Amino acid sequence: MAFDIDTFRVAPGDKIRLDKRDPQDTPHVDPDDRAAAETRTLELNGRLEELQELLWAQGKHRVLVVLQAMDAGGKDGTIKHVFEHVNPSGVRVAAFKKPSDDELRHDYLWRVHKEVPGDGELVIFNRSHYEDVLVVRVMDLVPKSTWKKRFGHIRAFEELLVDEGTTVLKFFLHTSKEEQRERLQERLDRPEKNWKFDAGDLVHREKWDDYMDAFADVLEETSTVDAPWFIIPANRKWYRNLAISEIMVNALEALEMTYPPAPADIAEMTISD
Ligand code: ATP
Ligand code: MG
Repeated sequence: MAFDIDTFRVAPGDKIRLDKRDPQDTPHVDPDDRAAAETRTLELNGRLEELQELLWAQGKHRVLVVLQAMDAGGKDGTIKHVFEHVNPSGVRVAAFKKPSDDELRHDYLWRVHKEVPGDGELVIFNRSHYEDVLVVRVMDLVPKSTWKKRFGHIRAFEELLVDEGTTVLKFFLHTSKEEQRERLQERLDRPEKNWKFDAGDLVHREKWDDYMDAFADVLEETSTVDAPWFIIPANRKWYRNLAISEIMVNALEALEMTYPPAPADIAEMTISD
């Protein structure tokens, strides 16, 4: 069956029950056919490379990809495996950590707006302004009356980006609590992964259910027609890579980009010795 990306898209008005969605799932793909899926992902990545080259050459559109997940949810792996062939000149990753003192002296979108893509650019947000309605909410960093209003700000902010020529694609990498346990344990057990271990992750892990509630609200409140969320079943890394590659290629194809026109007299030109 053809891969239908609408399976993952959150439509405005959808009610989201994350506990009813299986992070182990592999819609449209036989889970035993991992090899075929990996071959297809490589093909798609080749196409993504061509499309990103066009995006950069044409310098007309802007593309913003937002990645959100629980700790060890696969944001870094996605960046590595989906975008491995793109041209670093036109692509940038912006990671949003705990805000600095300077950032905290401004509104929460200040640091985010500075990082959005310019003409021809593809920018990947590793975490994003959504932290300001996720960790900030769950860890009680601001009162409810403050974070509640942010859904409206965020919808308006993204509408602004879209109106000014940005394609906005948002991915929630949906992993299970058990999968997180295995991945965090691996960070403890494998010396080459020790550097990734952060004891702070365990504090967030204890609040897993609160995070799931917060994510469900984010998905319900901020998935719009023009800046949609996609919920990606992400326990199986190969499936996550395939699904995101499919969605990326589909979105970039839809821009119907063309190379800039050649200079008028190019046909008469030759390069002399
Ligand atoms: P990895 O998955 O490799 O651990 P990471 O994205 O978790 O990478 P870290 O530096 O470990 O990177 O963590 C960043 C931390 O910053 C996260 O715990 C995140 O919740 C927190 N953070 C991001 N934005 C905000 C914010 N606006 N307010 C408070 N905390 C934030
Ligand atoms: Mg971390």
